Amino acid sequence: MNQINSRNNIGYKLFTFVFSFIAFLTVSTAVAHGKEIRTTASGLSEVTFYDANDNGKNLVKYNLKNWPEAAKQAVMEAMVITENSLNIKHTMRVAFAWSPDLDKDRNLALAYTSYVSVKGFSDFGIEIDENYKYPAELIHQMVGNPVYDCINITVIFNSVKDWCFSSKQQPTKNQQDLITVTLHELAHGFGISSSFNKSNEKTPYIFDKYIYNRLGDQLGESYATTKANASSELENTNLYYGGKMGVQANNGQQIQLHVPATLSSASICHFDMKYKNDERGRLLIAGTTYGVSTRAFGDFALGIFQDLGWELRTDTRAEVFSPNNEKSNTTANETIEQNPISIRTGAGSIQVDLNSFDPQRVAIYTLAGRQVRNELISGSATFDVPSGQIYIVRIGNKSEKVMVN
Ligand SMILES: [Zn+2]
Repeated sequence: MNQINSRNNIGYKLFTFVFSFIAFLTVSTAVAHGKEIRTTASGLSEVTFYDANDNGKNLVKYNLKNWPEAAKQAVMEAMVITENSLNIKHTMRVAFAWSPDLDKDRNLALAYTSYVSVKGFSDFGIEIDENYKYPAELIHQMVGNPVYDCINITVIFNSVKDWCFSSKQQPTKNQQDLITVTLHELAHGFGISSSFNKSNEKTPYIFDKYIYNRLGDQLGESYATTKANASSELENTNLYYGGKMGVQANNGQQIQLHVPATLSSASICHFDMKYKNDERGRLLIAGTTYGVSTRAFGDFALGIFQDLGWELRTDTRAEVFSPNNEKSNTTANETIEQNPISIRTGAGSIQVDLNSFDPQRVAIYTLAGRQVRNELISGSATFDVPSGQIYIVRIGNKSEKVMVN
Protein backbone atom coordinates (compact mmCIF):
# COMPACT_ATOMS: atom_id res chain seq x y z
CA MET A 1 0.00 0.00 0.00
CA ASN A 2 2.72 2.40 0.83
CA GLN A 3 5.07 1.33 -1.88
CA ILE A 4 5.02 2.05 -5.53
CA ASN A 5 7.60 0.98 -7.98
CA SER A 6 7.91 1.97 -11.54
CA ARG A 7 9.26 -0.05 -14.37
CA ASN A 8 10.25 1.95 -17.37
CA ASN A 9 12.50 -0.44 -19.17
CA ILE A 10 11.80 -1.83 -22.57
CA GLY A 11 12.00 -5.39 -21.32
CA TYR A 12 8.91 -4.88 -19.24
CA LYS A 13 7.02 -3.46 -22.18
CA LEU A 14 7.96 -6.30 -24.50
CA PHE A 15 7.03 -8.79 -21.85
CA THR A 16 3.67 -7.11 -21.56
CA PHE A 17 3.09 -7.38 -25.28
CA VAL A 18 3.96 -11.04 -25.36
CA PHE A 19 1.64 -11.82 -22.52
CA SER A 20 -1.21 -9.75 -23.85
CA PHE A 21 -0.95 -11.68 -27.07
CA ILE A 22 -0.88 -15.08 -25.45
CA ALA A 23 -3.72 -14.05 -23.21
CA PHE A 24 -5.81 -13.22 -26.21
CA LEU A 25 -5.19 -16.55 -27.81
CA THR A 26 -5.89 -18.64 -24.75
CA VAL A 27 -8.77 -16.79 -23.17
CA SER A 28 -11.15 -19.74 -23.27
CA THR A 29 -8.84 -22.15 -21.44
CA ALA A 30 -7.14 -19.60 -19.21
CA VAL A 31 -9.23 -20.41 -16.17
CA ALA A 32 -7.97 -23.95 -15.83
CA HIS A 33 -4.33 -23.20 -16.59
CA GLY A 34 -3.45 -20.11 -14.62
CA LYS A 35 -4.12 -16.57 -15.62
CA GLU A 36 -7.74 -15.67 -16.07
CA ILE A 37 -9.03 -12.68 -17.98
CA ARG A 38 -12.27 -10.98 -17.12
CA THR A 39 -13.91 -8.01 -18.75
CA THR A 40 -16.30 -5.75 -16.89
CA ALA A 41 -19.92 -5.65 -18.06
CA SER A 42 -19.31 -2.28 -19.71
CA GLY A 43 -16.36 -3.69 -21.63
CA LEU A 44 -14.28 -0.67 -20.61
CA SER A 45 -11.69 -2.61 -18.69
CA GLU A 46 -10.06 -5.99 -18.91
CA VAL A 47 -8.59 -7.57 -15.82
CA THR A 48 -5.96 -10.28 -15.85
CA PHE A 49 -5.66 -12.38 -12.70
CA TYR A 50 -2.40 -14.28 -12.31
CA ASP A 51 -2.44 -17.30 -10.06
CA ALA A 52 -0.17 -20.09 -8.84
CA ASN A 53 0.16 -21.61 -12.30
CA ASP A 54 1.84 -18.43 -13.50
CA ASN A 55 4.76 -18.56 -11.04
CA GLY A 56 7.87 -17.31 -12.75
CA LYS A 57 5.96 -16.44 -15.90
CA ASN A 58 4.00 -13.50 -14.59
CA LEU A 59 5.13 -9.96 -15.24
CA VAL A 60 6.68 -9.66 -11.82
CA LYS A 61 8.66 -12.48 -10.26
CA TYR A 62 6.69 -13.40 -7.19
CA ASN A 63 5.48 -16.69 -5.87
CA LEU A 64 1.79 -16.66 -6.47
CA LYS A 65 -1.21 -18.22 -4.80
CA ASN A 66 -4.57 -19.03 -6.31
CA TRP A 67 -7.15 -16.33 -5.82
CA PRO A 68 -10.18 -16.66 -3.60
CA GLU A 69 -13.15 -15.99 -5.88
CA ALA A 70 -14.40 -13.27 -3.54
CA ALA A 71 -11.09 -11.43 -3.92
CA LYS A 72 -11.50 -11.38 -7.70
CA GLN A 73 -15.00 -10.01 -7.23
CA ALA A 74 -13.65 -7.20 -5.03
CA VAL A 75 -11.08 -6.26 -7.66
CA MET A 76 -13.76 -6.23 -10.34
CA GLU A 77 -15.88 -3.95 -8.15
CA ALA A 78 -12.94 -1.57 -7.83
CA MET A 79 -12.64 -1.53 -11.60
CA VAL A 80 -16.32 -0.63 -11.93
CA ILE A 81 -15.81 2.23 -9.46
CA THR A 82 -12.89 3.30 -11.65
CA GLU A 83 -15.06 3.20 -14.76
CA ASN A 84 -17.65 5.33 -13.00
CA SER A 85 -14.98 7.85 -12.05
CA LEU A 86 -12.79 8.20 -15.12
CA ASN A 87 -13.86 8.65 -18.70
CA ILE A 88 -12.27 5.52 -20.14
CA LYS A 89 -12.16 5.78 -23.91
CA HIS A 90 -9.90 2.88 -24.74
CA THR A 91 -9.99 -0.51 -23.03
CA MET A 92 -7.97 -0.31 -19.85
CA ARG A 93 -5.96 -3.46 -19.14
CA VAL A 94 -4.80 -4.05 -15.58
CA ALA A 95 -3.14 -7.16 -14.15
CA PHE A 96 -3.44 -8.41 -10.58
CA ALA A 97 -1.55 -11.08 -8.66
CA TRP A 98 -1.98 -12.71 -5.25
CA SER A 99 1.30 -13.41 -3.48
CA PRO A 100 2.57 -14.46 -0.03
CA ASP A 101 5.97 -12.87 -0.79
CA LEU A 102 4.73 -9.39 0.11
CA ASP A 103 4.28 -10.47 3.69
CA LYS A 104 8.06 -10.76 4.20
CA ASP A 105 8.43 -7.00 3.87
CA ARG A 106 5.04 -6.46 5.45
CA ASN A 107 3.71 -4.87 2.30
CA LEU A 108 -0.01 -4.87 1.78
CA ALA A 109 0.12 -4.29 -1.96
CA LEU A 110 2.43 -3.00 -4.65
CA ALA A 111 1.71 -1.27 -7.95
CA TYR A 112 3.98 -1.48 -10.95
CA THR A 113 3.38 1.27 -13.45
CA SER A 114 5.00 2.04 -16.79
CA TYR A 115 6.03 5.68 -17.16
CA VAL A 116 6.81 7.06 -20.58
CA SER A 117 8.61 10.05 -22.01
CA VAL A 118 6.26 12.14 -24.13
CA LYS A 119 8.74 14.10 -26.23
CA GLY A 120 7.03 14.87 -29.50
CA PHE A 121 3.59 13.90 -28.23
CA SER A 122 2.24 17.43 -28.58
CA ASP A 123 1.95 16.51 -32.25
CA PHE A 124 -1.02 14.34 -31.34
CA GLY A 125 -2.86 17.54 -30.53
CA ILE A 126 -3.17 16.75 -26.86
CA GLU A 127 -2.39 19.06 -23.99
CA ILE A 128 0.76 17.68 -22.53
CA ASP A 129 3.97 18.91 -20.88
CA GLU A 130 6.88 17.29 -22.66
CA ASN A 131 9.24 17.99 -19.75
CA TYR A 132 7.58 15.30 -17.66
CA LYS A 133 6.99 11.58 -17.94
CA TYR A 134 3.40 10.35 -17.93
CA PRO A 135 1.86 7.10 -16.74
CA ALA A 136 1.53 4.95 -19.86
CA GLU A 137 -2.14 4.24 -19.22
CA LEU A 138 -2.93 7.96 -19.22
CA ILE A 139 -1.16 8.35 -22.56
CA HIS A 140 -3.10 5.35 -23.83
CA GLN A 141 -6.36 7.03 -22.82
CA MET A 142 -5.30 10.40 -24.24
CA VAL A 143 -4.10 9.31 -27.66
CA GLY A 144 -5.48 5.80 -28.07
CA ASN A 145 -2.12 4.87 -29.45
CA PRO A 146 -1.95 1.09 -29.95
CA VAL A 147 1.65 1.19 -28.70
CA TYR A 148 0.26 1.69 -25.20
CA ASP A 149 -2.67 -0.67 -25.58
CA CYS A 150 -1.30 -3.24 -23.15
CA ILE A 151 -1.10 -3.93 -19.44
CA ASN A 152 0.39 -0.71 -18.11
CA ILE A 153 -0.45 -1.32 -14.45
CA THR A 154 0.17 -4.47 -12.43
CA VAL A 155 -0.92 -4.73 -8.81
CA ILE A 156 0.22 -7.44 -6.40
CA PHE A 157 -1.61 -8.11 -3.14
CA ASN A 158 -0.37 -9.72 0.04
CA SER A 159 -2.21 -13.06 0.08
CA VAL A 160 -1.45 -13.66 3.77
CA LYS A 161 -3.40 -10.66 5.09
CA ASP A 162 -6.87 -10.85 6.52
CA TRP A 163 -8.99 -9.10 3.89
CA CYS A 164 -12.55 -7.92 3.68
CA PHE A 165 -13.70 -8.82 0.16
CA SER A 166 -17.36 -7.93 0.11
CA SER A 167 -18.75 -4.53 -0.75
CA LYS A 168 -21.75 -5.48 1.38
CA GLN A 169 -19.65 -5.77 4.52
CA GLN A 170 -17.31 -3.51 6.40
CA PRO A 171 -13.83 -4.71 7.40
CA THR A 172 -13.42 -5.79 11.01
CA LYS A 173 -10.78 -4.03 13.09
CA ASN A 174 -8.21 -6.63 12.04
CA GLN A 175 -9.06 -6.55 8.35
CA GLN A 176 -7.96 -4.57 5.35
CA ASP A 177 -10.55 -3.73 2.71
CA LEU A 178 -9.61 -5.11 -0.70
CA ILE A 179 -11.76 -2.73 -2.75
CA THR A 180 -10.17 0.19 -0.89
CA VAL A 181 -6.61 -1.04 -1.38
CA THR A 182 -7.25 -1.80 -5.06
CA LEU A 183 -8.42 1.78 -5.61
CA HIS A 184 -5.42 3.09 -3.67
CA GLU A 185 -2.98 1.17 -5.87
CA LEU A 186 -4.81 2.11 -9.05
CA ALA A 187 -4.56 5.78 -8.04
CA HIS A 188 -0.78 5.36 -7.98
CA GLY A 189 -1.00 3.68 -11.36
CA PHE A 190 -3.03 6.56 -12.75
CA GLY A 191 -0.27 9.00 -11.82
CA ILE A 192 -0.28 9.84 -8.11
CA SER A 193 3.33 8.82 -7.99
CA SER A 194 6.51 10.81 -7.55
CA SER A 195 9.88 10.29 -9.18
CA PHE A 196 11.57 12.18 -6.33
CA ASN A 197 11.67 8.94 -4.35
CA LYS A 198 13.15 6.92 -7.22
CA SER A 199 16.93 7.16 -7.17
CA ASN A 200 17.51 6.03 -10.75
CA GLU A 201 14.88 8.26 -12.36
CA LYS A 202 16.24 11.35 -14.16
CA THR A 203 13.00 12.79 -15.48
CA PRO A 204 10.20 14.11 -13.25
CA TYR A 205 6.73 12.59 -13.46
CA ILE A 206 3.76 14.79 -14.30
CA PHE A 207 2.60 14.60 -10.64
CA ASP A 208 5.94 16.18 -9.62
CA LYS A 209 5.12 19.27 -11.68
CA TYR A 210 2.60 20.30 -9.03
CA ILE A 211 4.70 19.75 -5.90
CA TYR A 212 5.55 22.87 -3.94
CA ASN A 213 7.74 23.44 -0.90
CA ARG A 214 6.94 25.82 1.96
CA LEU A 215 8.49 28.72 0.07
CA GLY A 216 6.19 28.14 -2.85
CA ASP A 217 8.94 26.83 -5.11
CA GLN A 218 7.80 24.35 -7.73
CA LEU A 219 10.14 21.40 -7.18
CA GLY A 220 9.76 19.97 -10.67
CA GLU A 221 11.37 23.09 -12.12
CA SER A 222 14.63 22.53 -10.29
CA TYR A 223 14.43 18.78 -10.53
CA ALA A 224 18.11 17.87 -10.62
CA THR A 225 18.98 20.22 -7.74
CA THR A 226 16.10 18.98 -5.62
CA LYS A 227 17.08 15.35 -6.15
CA ALA A 228 20.74 16.10 -5.45
CA ASN A 229 19.82 17.81 -2.18
CA ALA A 230 17.21 15.24 -1.23
CA SER A 231 17.98 15.25 2.49
CA SER A 232 17.20 18.95 2.84
CA GLU A 233 14.53 19.25 0.15
CA LEU A 234 12.54 16.03 0.54
CA GLU A 235 12.99 15.05 4.20
CA ASN A 236 11.98 16.73 7.44
CA THR A 237 10.02 19.36 5.61
CA ASN A 238 6.52 20.09 4.40
CA LEU A 239 5.59 19.57 0.77
CA TYR A 240 2.30 20.32 -0.91
CA TYR A 241 0.33 19.43 -3.99
CA GLY A 242 -0.68 22.64 -5.75
CA GLY A 243 -2.32 21.63 -9.04
CA LYS A 244 -5.45 23.64 -9.82
CA MET A 245 -8.16 20.99 -9.58
CA GLY A 246 -6.60 19.30 -6.57
CA VAL A 247 -6.49 22.64 -4.78
CA GLN A 248 -10.08 23.31 -5.75
CA ALA A 249 -11.08 19.99 -4.19
CA ASN A 250 -9.45 21.18 -0.96
CA ASN A 251 -11.36 24.47 -0.75
CA GLY A 252 -8.54 26.45 -2.33
CA GLN A 253 -5.80 25.04 -0.09
CA GLN A 254 -2.82 23.07 -1.31
CA ILE A 255 -2.95 19.41 -0.27
CA GLN A 256 -0.26 18.48 2.23
CA LEU A 257 1.81 15.49 1.17
CA HIS A 258 3.33 12.69 3.21
CA VAL A 259 6.98 13.52 3.91
CA PRO A 260 8.54 11.09 6.38
CA ALA A 261 11.85 11.86 8.11
CA THR A 262 13.69 9.56 5.71
CA LEU A 263 12.99 9.53 2.01
CA SER A 264 11.19 6.27 1.17
CA SER A 265 9.06 4.78 -1.57
CA ALA A 266 6.03 6.09 0.32
CA SER A 267 7.32 9.68 0.42
CA ILE A 268 5.48 12.41 -1.48
CA CYS A 269 3.09 10.10 -3.38
CA HIS A 270 0.66 9.97 -0.43
CA PHE A 271 -1.35 12.57 1.43
CA ASP A 272 -0.50 13.69 4.94
CA MET A 273 -1.95 11.70 7.84
CA LYS A 274 -4.02 14.71 8.87
CA TYR A 275 -6.52 13.65 6.19
CA LYS A 276 -7.10 10.23 7.73
CA ASN A 277 -10.64 11.15 8.72
CA ASP A 278 -11.29 13.25 5.63
CA GLU A 279 -13.22 11.34 3.00
CA ARG A 280 -11.79 13.59 0.29
CA GLY A 281 -8.24 12.40 0.87
CA ARG A 282 -8.39 9.35 3.09
CA LEU A 283 -7.85 6.79 0.32
CA LEU A 284 -4.31 7.99 -0.26
CA ILE A 285 -2.83 8.54 3.16
CA ALA A 286 0.35 6.50 3.65
CA GLY A 287 0.32 3.32 5.63
CA THR A 288 -2.42 0.91 6.32
CA THR A 289 -5.70 1.50 8.01
CA TYR A 290 -7.40 -1.49 9.52
CA GLY A 291 -11.13 -1.66 9.79
CA VAL A 292 -11.76 1.23 7.40
CA SER A 293 -13.15 1.16 3.90
CA THR A 294 -12.91 4.01 1.41
CA ARG A 295 -14.56 2.72 -1.72
CA ALA A 296 -14.19 5.84 -3.81
CA PHE A 297 -11.19 7.81 -5.05
CA GLY A 298 -12.26 10.92 -3.15
CA ASP A 299 -12.20 14.52 -4.30
CA PHE A 300 -8.47 15.07 -3.84
CA ALA A 301 -7.49 12.19 -6.10
CA LEU A 302 -10.18 13.04 -8.63
CA GLY A 303 -8.97 16.64 -8.81
CA ILE A 304 -5.38 15.49 -9.20
CA PHE A 305 -6.36 13.05 -11.93
CA GLN A 306 -7.83 16.00 -13.83
CA ASP A 307 -4.67 18.05 -13.35
CA LEU A 308 -2.62 15.18 -14.73
CA GLY A 309 -4.79 14.96 -17.83
CA TRP A 310 -7.49 12.41 -17.04
CA GLU A 311 -11.08 13.14 -17.98
CA LEU A 312 -13.65 12.45 -15.29
CA ARG A 313 -17.02 10.91 -15.86
CA THR A 314 -19.57 13.51 -14.94
CA ASP A 315 -22.86 11.67 -15.22
CA THR A 316 -22.07 9.22 -12.45
CA ARG A 317 -20.36 11.64 -10.11
CA ALA A 318 -22.97 10.99 -7.42
CA GLU A 319 -21.95 7.36 -7.24
CA VAL A 320 -18.33 8.32 -7.07
CA PHE A 321 -19.01 10.34 -3.97
CA SER A 322 -20.55 7.60 -1.98
CA PRO A 323 -20.58 4.07 -3.32
CA ASN A 324 -21.12 2.64 0.16
CA ASN A 325 -24.37 4.43 0.64
CA GLU A 326 -25.82 3.23 -2.61
CA LYS A 327 -25.47 -0.34 -1.42
CA SER A 328 -25.76 0.33 2.27
CA ASN A 329 -27.05 -2.44 4.44
CA THR A 330 -30.21 -2.23 6.48
CA THR A 331 -28.41 -1.25 9.67
CA ALA A 332 -27.21 1.99 8.12
CA ASN A 333 -30.63 2.75 6.69
CA GLU A 334 -32.27 2.21 10.03
CA THR A 335 -29.90 4.65 11.68
CA ILE A 336 -30.82 7.28 9.16
CA GLU A 337 -34.52 6.67 9.66
CA GLN A 338 -34.26 7.15 13.40
CA ASN A 339 -32.44 10.44 13.09
CA PRO A 340 -33.25 11.75 9.68
CA ILE A 341 -31.22 14.46 8.03
CA SER A 342 -33.72 16.15 5.79
CA ILE A 343 -32.87 17.76 2.47
CA ARG A 344 -35.61 19.87 0.93
CA THR A 345 -35.64 22.18 -2.02
CA GLY A 346 -37.35 25.50 -2.55
CA ALA A 347 -37.26 27.96 -5.41
CA GLY A 348 -33.53 28.47 -5.96
CA SER A 349 -32.60 26.98 -2.62
CA ILE A 350 -31.67 23.80 -0.81
CA GLN A 351 -32.54 23.45 2.88
CA VAL A 352 -30.66 21.01 5.05
CA ASP A 353 -31.87 20.12 8.52
CA LEU A 354 -29.48 17.99 10.56
CA ASN A 355 -32.05 17.42 13.30
CA SER A 356 -30.22 15.63 16.09
CA PHE A 357 -26.99 15.08 14.16
CA ASP A 358 -23.69 16.66 15.15
CA PRO A 359 -22.39 19.50 12.94
CA GLN A 360 -21.74 18.21 9.43
CA ARG A 361 -19.95 19.43 6.36
CA VAL A 362 -22.38 19.99 3.53
CA ALA A 363 -21.04 20.05 -0.02
CA ILE A 364 -23.23 20.81 -3.01
CA TYR A 365 -22.17 19.89 -6.52
CA THR A 366 -23.65 20.35 -9.95
CA LEU A 367 -24.25 17.19 -11.92
CA ALA A 368 -21.12 18.05 -13.86
CA GLY A 369 -19.16 17.71 -10.64
CA ARG A 370 -18.49 21.39 -9.96
CA GLN A 371 -18.63 22.25 -6.29
CA VAL A 372 -20.90 25.22 -5.63
CA ARG A 373 -21.04 25.17 -1.81
CA ASN A 374 -19.01 23.61 0.97
CA GLU A 375 -19.84 24.59 4.53
CA LEU A 376 -19.78 23.17 7.99
CA ILE A 377 -23.26 23.59 9.46
CA SER A 378 -24.99 22.82 12.70
CA GLY A 379 -28.75 22.54 13.10
CA SER A 380 -30.12 23.66 9.78
CA ALA A 381 -29.09 25.84 6.88
CA THR A 382 -30.45 27.15 3.61
CA PHE A 383 -28.23 27.36 0.56
CA ASP A 384 -29.16 29.61 -2.33
CA VAL A 385 -28.27 28.01 -5.65
CA PRO A 386 -29.11 28.74 -9.30
CA SER A 387 -32.51 27.24 -10.08
CA GLY A 388 -33.53 24.82 -12.80
CA GLN A 389 -30.75 22.35 -12.10
CA ILE A 390 -30.06 19.02 -10.50
CA TYR A 391 -27.57 19.05 -7.63
CA ILE A 392 -25.76 16.45 -5.61
CA VAL A 393 -25.90 17.25 -1.92
CA ARG A 394 -23.28 15.47 0.12
CA ILE A 395 -23.46 15.37 3.89
CA GLY A 396 -20.70 13.47 5.59
CA ASN A 397 -20.55 10.13 3.86
CA LYS A 398 -23.96 10.33 2.26
CA SER A 399 -25.05 11.99 -0.96
CA GLU A 400 -28.41 12.69 -2.46
CA LYS A 401 -29.55 13.99 -5.81
CA VAL A 402 -32.08 16.86 -5.72
CA MET A 403 -33.84 18.96 -8.33
CA VAL A 404 -34.03 22.69 -7.63
CA ASN A 405 -36.83 24.52 -9.44
ZN1 LIG B 1 0.32 3.88 -1.62
